[in-house]
Amino acid sequence: MYFTYEQPKIDLSDEKERKRIVDEAYANGVEAAKSGKVADYIPELAKANPDDFGICIKTRAGETIAIGETQKRFSIQSISKVINLAASLKYLGFRETFSHVMLEPSGDAFNSILKLDTVSDLPFNPMINAGAIQVMSMLTNVLSFDELLSFAKAFCMDDGIYLNEEVYNSESLTGDRNRAIVYLLKSKGVLQGEPEKTLDMYFKMCSLNVNAESLANLGLILTNRGQNPLTGKHLIHPGYIRTIRSLMFTCGMYDESGEYGVLVGIPSKSGVGGGIVASAAEMGVGTFGPALNKKGNSIGGIAALEHLSHLMRLNMFS
Ligand code: GLU
Repeated sequence: MYFTYEQPKIDLSDEKERKRIVDEAYANGVEAAKSGKVADYIPELAKANPDDFGICIKTRAGETIAIGETQKRFSIQSISKVINLAASLKYLGFRETFSHVMLEPSGDAFNSILKLDTVSDLPFNPMINAGAIQVMSMLTNVLSFDELLSFAKAFCMDDGIYLNEEVYNSESLTGDRNRAIVYLLKSKGVLQGEPEKTLDMYFKMCSLNVNAESLANLGLILTNRGQNPLTGKHLIHPGYIRTIRSLMFTCGMYDESGEYGVLVGIPSKSGVGGGIVASAAEMGVGTFGPALNKKGNSIGGIAALEHLSHLMRLNMFS
């Protein structure tokens, strides 16, 4: 972690300078990844290569910079929570969605049950497992998995996204904590769908195989107020994007969201598969680095995004 209030004097209109900054961000990511550890609580994720690292940037102006492992597929994991929330806002609306899940950072680990049992019947936000499972319980009443998959493909501008059966089976077999969450929600009478169907769709969405480029595209669409910059098609109402990006900023990086918000300052969402999507003012960024820190965030991804944010002045409060 480093921080300085000095504004670097860099000519960002110079293409070579932009490329140099991304090269440095990549090098920082590779270096940082050496001190991380791949997730192993889902057995299939333990097979990832901790040395993999890639970064992809896509700007509204149409520029793409991609370095390292940006085409290698990995499971989207918690980044699917962004897509599920977008679908819920689109198909059920703001009022209905947030009648069943709150908008508050929890400050707890992503899979915690603590506050759900002791503080509030409703999950704190859609970016933690309890909240995402609750959102999924609503979605099971209006969308099939295939429809959600199509929505994910459109949001990531990537027709190549597919269900990773190995990860899905691995999660289904070992996801007892998520099973506990869904039944706790049911026991409180707040769950909106059938528990096993809800869990199944939740696991499937976590098991979609994406790459760093699809995440950069997702970031770009969020940056572009929900509009596909190539086709001009609006995927959801621009107002919903504000809600999604706000929740990514406050809750998207697990119980590291506060520190990340200060040091990087870009609405982002991470997943334990090693991906991070970031939606800055003029660009989407996708990083892939399966070596994680203790909070479950990609350690290389955070290092790269810190560098990028500082040198390209991407902090939204700069
Ligand atoms: N499928 C994972 C779980 O529910 C997602 C966790 C994550 O990426 O934060 O445990």
